Amino acid sequence: MDNALREFIKKRANYCCEYCRMSQDSDILPFQIDHIISLKHHGSSEATNLTLSCYSCNAHKGPNIAGIDVKTGGVTRLFHPRRDQWDKHFLWEGAYLLDSTAIGRTTIDVLSINLLERVELRRTLMAIGISFEA
Ligand SMILES: [Zn+2]
Repeated sequence: MDNALREFIKKRANYCCEYCRMSQDSDILPFQIDHIISLKHHGSSEATNLTLSCYSCNAHKGPNIAGIDVKTGGVTRLFHPRRDQWDKHFLWEGAYLLDSTAIGRTTIDVLSINLLERVELRRTLMAIGISFEA
């Protein structure tokens, strides 16, 4: 992956995590380019399979492409930032990210998006006026 592609991915994402919408400016750890469908599962390294991810989301996602929906017990794919519309799967309740779909619910669970330290960081940022809306 060359620097031009990395910069394209960052700009396309407006320098925000495409899973939890944290801004790189608001986070202490450098964001990463994530293979939405991991290389392990034969995903490509083309822009259509790449997304910008905060360290926390990417570390929890790892090579996962699906998870177990805690509500139904069914295997459910993860949110795909290139194919899925964020607002159809997620909504905010204060600093907590809530799901609108099984895909949203499973993604929040696998990526640990509502980990206490992440919620507290979002709460602090929201208190000083930083928005997590698109
Ligand atoms: Zn994130």
